[in-house]
Amino acid sequence: MTGSALYETFARAPLAFEKGEGSWLTTVTGDRYLDFAAGIAVNSLGYSHPHLVAALTEQAGKLWHVSNLYEIPGQQRLAERLVANSFADKVFFTNSGAEAIECAIKTARRYHFAKGQPERYRTITFEGAFHGRTLATIAAGGQAKYLEGFGPKADGFDQVPFGDLDAVEKLIGPTTAAILIEPIQGEGGVRVVPAQTMRRLRDLCDTNGLLLVLDEVQSGIGRTGRFLAHEWSGVAPDIAAIAKGIGGGFPMGACLATDEAAVGMTAGVHGTTFGGNPLAMAVGNAVLDVVLADGFLDAVAARGLLMKQGLASIADEFPDVIEEIRGEGLLLGLKCKVPNTKVSAALRDQKLLCATAGDNVVRLLPPLTVTEDEVRIALDRIRTGARTVAAAKAS
Ligand SMILES: *Cc1c(COP(=O)(O)O)cnc(C)c1O
Repeated sequence: MTGSALYETFARAPLAFEKGEGSWLTTVTGDRYLDFAAGIAVNSLGYSHPHLVAALTEQAGKLWHVSNLYEIPGQQRLAERLVANSFADKVFFTNSGAEAIECAIKTARRYHFAKGQPERYRTITFEGAFHGRTLATIAAGGQAKYLEGFGPKADGFDQVPFGDLDAVEKLIGPTTAAILIEPIQGEGGVRVVPAQTMRRLRDLCDTNGLLLVLDEVQSGIGRTGRFLAHEWSGVAPDIAAIAKGIGGGFPMGACLATDEAAVGMTAGVHGTTFGGNPLAMAVGNAVLDVVLADGFLDAVAARGLLMKQGLASIADEFPDVIEEIRGEGLLLGLKCKVPNTKVSAALRDQKLLCATAGDNVVRLLPPLTVTEDEVRIALDRIRTGARTVAAAKAS
């Protein structure tokens, strides 16, 4: 064996954490970091949230897993709450975002199959998209760097440039089943799809009998200050995938659909062993207790605004480092003028954790429970980091 016993697939930062509380992480050597990566938008309620810890430990003492051979009351309850708070009528629980997208794609294809048009199986997606790392979701994402070396790209995905509605219209044909899009591209560089584009996509779907499928794996569950990000556009999808934030750190996801869109998903056509187990459902329900409480989403929007305004003034101060501020709520991006890895390293030196994204962007995704004080601390650290990068560039 050479080197680590792990696959070398990740370029990990040389940090190991031991514990976390709220928006803060402590390393094994006792250093404290303010975490504006939040496990890539997963730790929606920060670390050691008392309500989540209580829900998990209580369920852990009762029942972890029984399989979908049996009824799972926690699933019923979480599905009903997701339905009550979204466009959807039906839910399928998964363990991850990619599986939720797989379910969404399968649901869209089965819809047309059930309607007697099995030839309609192709999905239109957008450049810069990220939908996961399974064979189908790398085909949907269409990024060469994720497809290379993994054999023929899975059939059934056609891609157009980001926001190019004319290209979408031209591509729609007798084999098209659906349009799949992230309301805000996360990995792709925190690129927001304008409301007008969302409305146009809805129109194109309605005119051509297609399903509008949204990837809300990163943008959903309060991240943008709405329960699901597409609510900002006033447009409802037929199907949506969620994951990341719904588990608050417990691996889970879900595919949401209208009754009409889910018409083909009949007994036995899809399944999962782990998806929706009692432990996951206890945590998912506890996350919703907090996210759906009065005023929570408004607070997320307010912190997002505070953050965005602060970032805009830092960008004004250091135009050679930061070109533009992007995003909505607490899904924010700094489009950089220097390599984004330089900026993220400078922030890490200031003990602020962030994530990078495509299009040379630094992504800021604090826990949704981040306080105003913590936002101010983060802004101070970002200003200092930007100053260091600017000074290094000038010398
Ligand atoms: C993270 C992510 C996925 C994949 O989720 P996994 O849980 O890693 O499979 C899919 N789509 C979007 C938009 C994501 O951000």
